[in-house]
Amino acid sequence: MTEPLPWKPTATSHLEHLFPTLTAEQMKRLASHGRRRAIAAGEVLVDVGASAVPFFLVVSGAIQVLRPSGDSEAVIVTHRPGQFSGEANMINGRRSMARMRVSEPGEAIQIDRDQLLGVVQTDAELGEILMRAFILRRIELIAGGFGDVVLIGSMHCGGTLRVKEFLTRNGHPYHYIDLDRDSDAQELLDRFHVSAKDVPVLICRGDAVLRNPTNHQIADCLGFNEAIDPVRVRDLVIIGGGPAGLAAAVYGASEGLDVLVLEANSPGGQAGSSSRIENYLGFPTGISGLDLTGRAYAQAQKFGAQVMIAKDATRLACDRQPFSVQMDDGAAVAARVVIIATGAEYRRPTLQNLAQFEGAGVYYGATQMEAQLCAGEEVIVVGGGNSAGQAAVFLAQTSRRVRILVRGDGLADTMSRYLIRRIEDSPSIVLRTRAEIVGLEGDRHLERVQWRDKSTGRVETTDVRHVFVMTGAMPNTRWIDHCLVLDKKGFIKTGPDLSPDDLAAARWPLSRPPYLLEASRPGVFAVGDVRGGNVKRVASAVGEGSIAVAFVHQILKQ
Ligand SMILES: Cc1cc2nc3c(=O)[nH]c(=O)nc-3n(C[C@H](O)[C@H](O)[C@H](O)COP(=O)(O)OP(=O)(O)OC[C@H]3O[C@@H](n4cnc5c(N)ncnc54)[C@H](O)[C@@H]3O)c2cc1C
Repeated sequence: MTEPLPWKPTATSHLEHLFPTLTAEQMKRLASHGRRRAIAAGEVLVDVGASAVPFFLVVSGAIQVLRPSGDSEAVIVTHRPGQFSGEANMINGRRSMARMRVSEPGEAIQIDRDQLLGVVQTDAELGEILMRAFILRRIELIAGGFGDVVLIGSMHCGGTLRVKEFLTRNGHPYHYIDLDRDSDAQELLDRFHVSAKDVPVLICRGDAVLRNPTNHQIADCLGFNEAIDPVRVRDLVIIGGGPAGLAAAVYGASEGLDVLVLEANSPGGQAGSSSRIENYLGFPTGISGLDLTGRAYAQAQKFGAQVMIAKDATRLACDRQPFSVQMDDGAAVAARVVIIATGAEYRRPTLQNLAQFEGAGVYYGATQMEAQLCAGEEVIVVGGGNSAGQAAVFLAQTSRRVRILVRGDGLADTMSRYLIRRIEDSPSIVLRTRAEIVGLEGDRHLERVQWRDKSTGRVETTDVRHVFVMTGAMPNTRWIDHCLVLDKKGFIKTGPDLSPDDLAAARWPLSRPPYLLEASRPGVFAVGDVRGGNVKRVASAVGEGSIAVAFVHQILKQ
């Protein structure tokens, strides 16, 4: 029987899923993976900040999960016979955010994390019950602001937004104190001798005070990477934890490979920042990028892939086997096979509130879906290259008017002649040269755009709800150095795109040609947006990540 909780669970959580009671048969199956032990009243089984947290299944008696605060403790929940401890940290191996104390003596089954991961992977029924409970419990912790982090900041400060995004995208609960609204916050800052220029301030685990911390410092303080062995030679190291990298991790780990992912920021990549992905197969009503990639992250970890957070790959030593991937902190990891999935960065105009309208009026691609969104309306296309030209011509078929804004004196020299002709011939396309967007306005959706005529300096405001930024994407390949053959724009060339000359220049050592998605070094693959010729979509990134794993097996067999 579940007791009333000291907080109101979110609408999406059902108590029977949050705190299920296992049947005698299910308990017996779990018991075979751990050891039966006595639990004594008052015994602390796990304390706040403990690492390598074991899992407990209550056989008799009761275990309380507590949130200590100063000298007092709040009871989060009491586990009774048939119920079990743990939340998402059972899967990701991070430190405990709560204290667990025995409130009634009895017996429990104790299972180490590694063994529990084995159960989740091999017992479909128990795996589903456990994973669902762990994820829902983490959602409750996040919604309730429970946890070991207090963030003090201001919504007018870019650093605060960055830290909030980093914690959110890593699924870490925090309590936020807004300096603009909370008059007591200053007192708190004074207590820690923090001045206004140090904002945002992050109080980590109740004691460490980090002033305007980097993502790397936050990851270190919260022990995001502690459970990961950095020394072991891995079957597969994946660089980049966007959809392409996470897909490779899910397939690789589920097929028995020892997989490590290095992610410079937070898992999810570009897709993680998309407010709604409407064209990904299987989600007819759309799904937020955070939800989609959050699930993929949990799925990869469930199968045993490890994900290092806030670790930038800075160099790939590809002239040796195993390969060595160096990171920004100077450490290196070794891999038999490497998959590069570092994506591309869309060139974004520097506009203060741009992120607010991404996916809600500001787009980086013009597909049928976007065309439908703005059918019959006026749109702006920013850019003078081929992608901008294609978008303008395409959107002109369905939109009332397409205004192309170009900062220079005309369309780029590189734009194809046929596109220039079509733009000139189309009555609904208007070209504005020496023009740039300087402001975006709206509430939940873009409503108006301010743009400046650079010749006169005049700023005009136009009622436009859709802006297509088509100023190109820059591949994240600067760190690769001279290791691999890149195309003219810096994307990685793979498979059949590598010409005999490319292979000769790269000294390709094998009689076989590169596999599909294999770069100019045997055993190094490139997938997703970072790959030359890739279609920049979530589905293609996921597809390529999973296809590459089939070839990884081939290489490991050789
Ligand atoms: C606002 C927006 C909306 C979009 N909407 C859609 C949509 O609705 N539908 C759709 O199909 N597509 C959409 N896209 C495109 C889609 O998001 C991308 O095609 C997809 O995310 C590509 O996945 P990826 O894994 O190849 O790269 P990314 O998602 O870019 O991920 C790359 C990852 O690698 C990491 N990384 C980079 N360099 C390093 C390094 N040196 N070391 C370690 N890690 C590194 C990055 O931090 C990042 O997490 C959208 C893109 C944007 C920007």
